[in-house]
Amino acid sequence: MTISAEARQGTPSGYRILNEADLRAYLAAIPSVATQLGGPADHWAITEVGDGNLNLVFIVKGSSGGLAVKQALPYVRLVGESWPLPLSRAHYEHLALTHQNRLAPGLVPAIVHHDAALALTAMELLEPHIIMRKGLVAGTIYPSFVDHVTTFMAQTLFFSSDLALTAAAKKVAIASFAGNHALCKITEDLIFTDPYRIAEQNRWTSPWLDATAADIRADLDLHVAISRLKLKFLSSAEALIHGDLHTGSIMVTDTETKVIDPEFAFYGPMGFDVGAVLANLLMAYFASDGHERSQGERQAFESWVLGTVDQVWSGFAQKFLTLWRSEARGDAYPLSLFPGEAGAARLEAERQAYMARLFQDAVGFTAAKIIRRILGLAHNIDFELIEDAKRRATCEARALRLARTLMVEGGSFTSIGSVTNAARELRHWQPGF
Ligand code: ADP
Ligand code: MG
Repeated sequence: MTISAEARQGTPSGYRILNEADLRAYLAAIPSVATQLGGPADHWAITEVGDGNLNLVFIVKGSSGGLAVKQALPYVRLVGESWPLPLSRAHYEHLALTHQNRLAPGLVPAIVHHDAALALTAMELLEPHIIMRKGLVAGTIYPSFVDHVTTFMAQTLFFSSDLALTAAAKKVAIASFAGNHALCKITEDLIFTDPYRIAEQNRWTSPWLDATAADIRADLDLHVAISRLKLKFLSSAEALIHGDLHTGSIMVTDTETKVIDPEFAFYGPMGFDVGAVLANLLMAYFASDGHERSQGERQAFESWVLGTVDQVWSGFAQKFLTLWRSEARGDAYPLSLFPGEAGAARLEAERQAYMARLFQDAVGFTAAKIIRRILGLAHNIDFELIEDAKRRATCEARALRLARTLMVEGGSFTSIGSVTNAARELRHWQPGF
């Protein structure tokens, strides 16, 4: 495949876009990989399956095992060569996967091989896992998801924060991800800016949501709130965040959960990851009314999803606090400042206050993630697969209404129960169209 001069800018020498035949020859020349796949290379089954927005993903299967091979393109796949995007994102994805493997073992795919020049990573093939969002659209319940995702978030966020790291180690770590700014910029534009103004790439379920979209473009209270969240995203290097932790970046079976696709990773605000999970569960909840299923199935699914929203926050908070009480080796909150029983009690109160602030951040980011999926560029199949556009708009309007309240009146939501109650109250609300 050829690449335009524009897209080639900044492309390292040695980079070429691989097709299936190229990949076969490439993998066959790496003895450890060839052994893992097993059998003669010309018997390997190779298919490109990338259904994401940005990269190529090949599934490779041999007689002994399989791999997923991800290669970055010098542009945004969804849009094409007119939107160049640096290949360095493959480096940051590999770096993030490496850290996550160490911080939350077993919850991300194992890395098998990385080639910086080709912007390529070969990793454990997740099979029979499916993208969680697809399961949610089908109304599937995942009982062990809460435990896994809360462990992933608590461990990756806590152990990369100032609560666990020395100041020097933290600063080195921040620097190692600081070059991933092109991916951050996508978030800054598509999540924190474009849905609130006229932007070419915005779209929504028209004509039903035209008035709501216009209201949001004129809502200065909302513009202040999203700007505060954007500033937090820009300036709060709290921990190594995944940066795109939606249900399309999570692969599941009944018993396993694996987080994939951390190419947006950098040192940012913890609440952004937590909010991403909460937002995507809430969208699955509101979308449920648009999908064909029996009354009983619908009720069971919706009550599981809302219960999961509850437990994602409470489970995360509990695990994070447990780590803080036992593994706080970082430079923040020196124990010598909190001596004796009185000191310990005061520090514990401060931990609770910290979690309350983190909860406020998460509520705000939850709202931001909902609004961008309904009014911005990238939509999700939870809503998109609802064929009847008016019915889809009704589900989306409920989610938008919740999001607007969460963002502007965030301070009045002091517990996750108040968020799920607000969602439940909007479940049967009929917008006036
Ligand atoms: P993008 O960055 O382009 O969004 P993803 O990392 O999300 O790419 O991968 C795109 C798709 O490839 C996923 O939705 C999933 O279906 C498949 N995929 C990615 N990684 C794996 C893996 N390790 N095992 C199996 N399938 C995978
Ligand atoms: Mg991606």
